[in-house]
Amino acid sequence: MTTATLTSNHGATQREDFNQYVMNTYGRFPVTIEKGEGCKLWDTEGKEYLDFVAGIATCTLGHGHPALIEAVSEQIKKLHHVSNLYYIPEQGALAKKIVENSCADKVFFCNSGAEANEAAIKLVRKYAHTVLEFLEEPVILTAKSSFHGRTLATITATGQPKYQKHFEPLVPGFEYVPYNDISAIEEAITDIDEGDRRVAGIMIEPLQGEGGVRPGDLDYFLRLRKICDDTGILLIFDEVQVGVGRTGKMWGYENLGVEPDIFTSAKGLAGGIPIGAMMCKANCDVFEPGNHASTFGGNPFACAAALKVLETIEHEGILQNVQARGEQLRTRLRAIATKYPNLFEEVRGWGLINGIEIKADAELTSIEVVKKAMEKGLLLAPAGPKVVRFVPPLIISSEEIDQGIDILEQTLADLA
Ligand SMILES: *Cc1c(COP(=O)(O)O)cnc(C)c1O
Repeated sequence: MTTATLTSNHGATQREDFNQYVMNTYGRFPVTIEKGEGCKLWDTEGKEYLDFVAGIATCTLGHGHPALIEAVSEQIKKLHHVSNLYYIPEQGALAKKIVENSCADKVFFCNSGAEANEAAIKLVRKYAHTVLEFLEEPVILTAKSSFHGRTLATITATGQPKYQKHFEPLVPGFEYVPYNDISAIEEAITDIDEGDRRVAGIMIEPLQGEGGVRPGDLDYFLRLRKICDDTGILLIFDEVQVGVGRTGKMWGYENLGVEPDIFTSAKGLAGGIPIGAMMCKANCDVFEPGNHASTFGGNPFACAAALKVLETIEHEGILQNVQARGEQLRTRLRAIATKYPNLFEEVRGWGLINGIEIKADAELTSIEVVKKAMEKGLLLAPAGPKVVRFVPPLIISSEEIDQGIDILEQTLADLA
């Protein structure tokens, strides 16, 4: 049973059917999006939106990108799925492209961010049991206010109790530390060191996305890398939201000047076609046949899409665009924060993942801003109750950034 959350009649009948038959796991906006092109979307009433959400940092090349359409059309005509019982040339080509454009040596493919993180968690545990032989009970440290997914292991890894509530018992072997706090890591490693119960991995986002668009500190990450080098603890980066050009670099870790031992990708990797990937360096490539698998993982269709996304990023100056548009966006957001000093705390982000934080004591929530902006034709996403997130397609133009921020200004003028 559902309670009606609809506030408008637009497409109401369709949405009543939807609510009757689809499980009620999302707080949805009363909008039905029907088509898209570039950074624009249209709903069933013909209303146009400028898309600063990109399917939650996923539609790297925007909507209806001709190169992506061609790649997936050609691939589905040829072959779309055969399973990993056989060699898949597109999967091999994609793995090669990722390895050539990152610090990784090997890739495992799956279908989502949570699955990629599950694979990373399993790899750390196998490494602990086989390489760090003394480890009976390997522990993975994760950060408070992190987000790593919705499976049981990944809600456990997620350092936010609201995602765990009512799903206990959680998976053993995780402990939490505050983000960007090196002494907390050092203390946790010492505290947990009891015989065979030891820290085997540190899993962390280079920039916390869902947790409020919080970039990692350079110095913190350098010291994290040093601790891992000195102790043999594995450093795992969850790049599900920040990887694949989102930050203006190919990978989030490039902003921090350190390389992880293992990292994961999903959201933007195939531009909106479901895919996940877990990458590792040669020294922690400990999986053997039968250790891990995914029926859909790395199928020809998803890999053809991801290959086209990576080729387009490489050949069409996308990273430069992300850097320039990100600067432009932050400059305009900072002007807004200055204009409303009682409303906003700060603007932060890298490339085209940015957030504006509302002051804790301001009577305004991120969702109010998002709803009002949507009425005015701009799609935004919250990142927690007090941060509004800006993650447009990476192909966004200078005019579209200005257009979006103009709408945001009108939105705030209405709300203030
Ligand atoms: C979205 C996200 C996930 C989960 O990805 P799914 O594809 O929804 O499973 C994991 N980690 C981070 C950092 C994310 O942003």
